Amino acid sequence: MSKPELSKSGDIKRWDKAQRVVLSEGVKQYRSLPSEMALWTVTGRDCEYLVDCTPTKDRKPYCSCDDFYFRVVSEKVPECYHLVAARKAIEEGMYSVVELKDSDFAGFMNNLLNGIFVHIS
Ligand SMILES: [Zn+2]
Repeated sequence: MSKPELSKSGDIKRWDKAQRVVLSEGVKQYRSLPSEMALWTVTGRDCEYLVDCTPTKDRKPYCSCDDFYFRVVSEKVPECYHLVAARKAIEEGMYSVVELKDSDFAGFMNNLLNGIFVHIS
C-alpha cells in the first residue's frame, strides 16, 4: 500500500500510526475451530479493537474505536488507522493468526468486548 498524498496531514498521521501497528504485529486474525469462524483485531492505544476491513456490497468497513465512531461515521475522516493497518497487514501478510476452540470463543468475545466498552469515551 503506498503512502497517501502529503496534502492530507491527518491521513499521513493515520498512515504512520498504521505502519507502526503493522510492524509491531498488532494485527491479528482469531480463528475459531472447527467452525472456521474468523475475526480481525488491531491493537490500539488502549485495547484491541474489533475491525471488519473486508467489506462486501452490503457491508461497509467497521472498527470499534472512538475515531471510527466520532469521525469516520460522520465523514470527517475516511477511515481510522486501525482499518488502514488491517488492510495493509492483510495485503503484506504481516498479521498473526490465533486459533481458538469454538468452546472458548464466547469467552474470548466477552473479554474483547469488555475491553472495548471500558475504553469508549
Ligand atoms: Zn479504529
